[in-house]
Amino acid sequence: MSNVVRLIPPIHELLQSKTLKHLVDEHNLNEPFVKRVIQQQTDQTRKDILSKELTFESREEVRDYILSNTKDSIESYMSNQIEPVINATGTVLHTNLGRARLSEAAIQRVVEVARHYSTLEYNKQTGDRGSRHDLVEQYIKDLTGAEAAIVVNNNAASVYMVLSAFSKGGEVIVSRGELVEIGGSFRVSSIMEESGATLKEVGTTNKTHLYDYEQAINEHTSMMMKVHTSNFHMIGFTKQVERTDLVKLAREHDVLTYEDLGSGMVYDLTEHGIGQEPLVRDIIESGIDLVSFSGDKLLGGPQVGVIAGKKEYINQLKKHQLARVLRVDKMTYAALEETLKQWIFINQNKNIPTLRDILLTREELKIRVKRFIERYLTYDDTSLVLNEKILSSKIGGGTLPEINLDSYGVTINSEQYTSKELKDLLRKMNPPIITRIEDEQVLMDFRTISENEEDIVLKKLVEIK
Ligand SMILES: *Cc1c(COP(=O)(O)O)cnc(C)c1O
Repeated sequence: MSNVVRLIPPIHELLQSKTLKHLVDEHNLNEPFVKRVIQQQTDQTRKDILSKELTFESREEVRDYILSNTKDSIESYMSNQIEPVINATGTVLHTNLGRARLSEAAIQRVVEVARHYSTLEYNKQTGDRGSRHDLVEQYIKDLTGAEAAIVVNNNAASVYMVLSAFSKGGEVIVSRGELVEIGGSFRVSSIMEESGATLKEVGTTNKTHLYDYEQAINEHTSMMMKVHTSNFHMIGFTKQVERTDLVKLAREHDVLTYEDLGSGMVYDLTEHGIGQEPLVRDIIESGIDLVSFSGDKLLGGPQVGVIAGKKEYINQLKKHQLARVLRVDKMTYAALEETLKQWIFINQNKNIPTLRDILLTREELKIRVKRFIERYLTYDDTSLVLNEKILSSKIGGGTLPEINLDSYGVTINSEQYTSKELKDLLRKMNPPIITRIEDEQVLMDFRTISENEEDIVLKKLVEIK
């Protein structure tokens, strides 16, 4: 055994090998990094020899073994951990796949601001220090009708900040029907606990009346909060209190009103027959003091939390310590500014991928699907059977859960592979193609595959033999 261990070549010798030299030159790797990986691989090999899991006949054999593992390890280390995928699931705001895709214009702005110094906290008019909180405020005001706004890291941060700033040590009244868990990790009750506010639940899961709120008010009450139930949709015998009634009651008792909107609609989807959600603007108009929503859901922008509402409260938030803790970076501001501008003055449904994808009609998708299948059939030696299929897709990200969008896509069948194997195979391609299985068949919903991704998908399917 110890004789076998003696066959392990020294590190400096391994480092000189052609295989590694080539890898180092090709990727401009630094020596300490390569040495460290060789060391790890050598140590592991020694352990495996001593525990009799491995044995070798010759020095060459050990050497090749360690070198091959070192190369694999370095290559796996260099591969990207966050990388683009083709979303063929049809779910537009897929939380696990990064939610909203940014518009081209927003992407360009991110690149510019990342490459250069910027006016992040610099007032170019006066040459004095500026505030990042002023960068996009006007655009949010224009879009929502709010008096003021501030941007934080994400919407969970918005909730945390609003509760910490205005209700620490106080009570917050929330309807039981709105205390749902969203997306597996967001719970108002937990965030409330962290913020130091006390949750005062009122009503029942399906019904909450105005008098439930009224009876819960006492000298410790600091806020009445409404929470969008997002990916939880209740039908049947339900009752929620009208926003305007709640605002009136809160005013009478001098307590704050805040609504966590989750997605936050700035574009009227009801005009396209989708859902029955009010616009952020309408909610602000109802007189509510503060609202918050995500940047990367229906807004179609980067991950942020937007808090909008009465100036007096937003000003307090801007001065709060948490504004520093939860502040967003310059690349995010660049993407957000451009996204907001597009909503305000560009023909949005062509330019904002999230909206464009939601509004795609089954007829439009059908044309693309037919053309795609025809193109696949022009290749020789293909092994898959593609068929068109009527589908229905979801918006996702906790947005309008009750809505099914009329969609269209392709089923993929193969003689060699089961559906599960095919789905795995597609996922392991470069770029990975994420599909879903329904009725034992692999499906690609074209709603979330953009036209310029079709060529890549086609090429990948042709590659499967
Ligand atoms: C999605 C959502 C959140 C969390 O927002 P993030 O931007 O993911 O932090 C909070 N509240 C509601 C109602 C939501 O739908």
